[in-house]
Amino acid sequence: MTTHSDQPFQSDIEAVAICRTPYKQKFGIPRQPGLVNVKGWVELTPKFNQLDAVRGIEQYSHLWLLFCFHENLAQGWKNTVRPPRLGGNEKLGVFATRSTFRPNGIGQSVVKLHSVVRRNGKICLEISGMDLLDGTPIIDIKPYIPFSDAIDNATGGIAQSAPELIEVQYSSLAETQVLAHSKALDISHLQQVITDVLAQDPRPAYKKAKVDLKIYQVALFDIDVFWRVNDKTIEVIEIKPTSV
Ligand code: SAM
Repeated sequence: MTTHSDQPFQSDIEAVAICRTPYKQKFGIPRQPGLVNVKGWVELTPKFNQLDAVRGIEQYSHLWLLFCFHENLAQGWKNTVRPPRLGGNEKLGVFATRSTFRPNGIGQSVVKLHSVVRRNGKICLEISGMDLLDGTPIIDIKPYIPFSDAIDNATGGIAQSAPELIEVQYSSLAETQVLAHSKALDISHLQQVITDVLAQDPRPAYKKAKVDLKIYQVALFDIDVFWRVNDKTIEVIEIKPTSV
């Protein structure tokens, strides 16, 4: 008897939705979901823009998003990676990590579902807690099922708990600017979002080991946030509208 388990398969994977998030560049995006409480939405693509496709989805509090690391596809994948958790010094197998450089470039994240709404004729799932770049193609959406997906006593390998947070302070200029942008963008918790993003200390691991005088920039919503590290705290220096 022949089995066909080793036969090549063909697939026509396509985006079922596009994720809209405040994260306009990869740098600064939380490294896992659920770390920053900010809203985004999942916008169904024209072929799937039918209420029937999401009928009943509101009864779930959380969803799995399967997506494509589309910004990294061109760089391919490697057998081993250096996880930031290990200070960027040690190598682990790609399948022992959540690296974005992986065969097929597929990521998965659990996000909170708030509502199903229509925006400009498009069906959108309003979500929060995502770790996805704005414009990320979503290739599938599934309900999170606690009885099966939440596993008591599971072990987390190199990632046993959420990363330690670093204190974030604002210069007096940045304090004034964040209030103005908060009003202009109509985002009342803008400062909290910036603080929560930077508290993750987005710098690459090798930078954390040395004296670091660099001024960093993170693009969120329609603003660029400039910051630096002062000893063990992060200081937001200035916030400017994104220059297009
Ligand atoms: N939770 C997912 C997983 O485990 O598959 C993603 C984990 S991955 C370490 C999270 C990082 O992926 C983010 O910090 C961001 O830098 C990167 N990222 C998010 N969306 C991306 C995209 N569309 N293309 C490439 N990189 C992306």
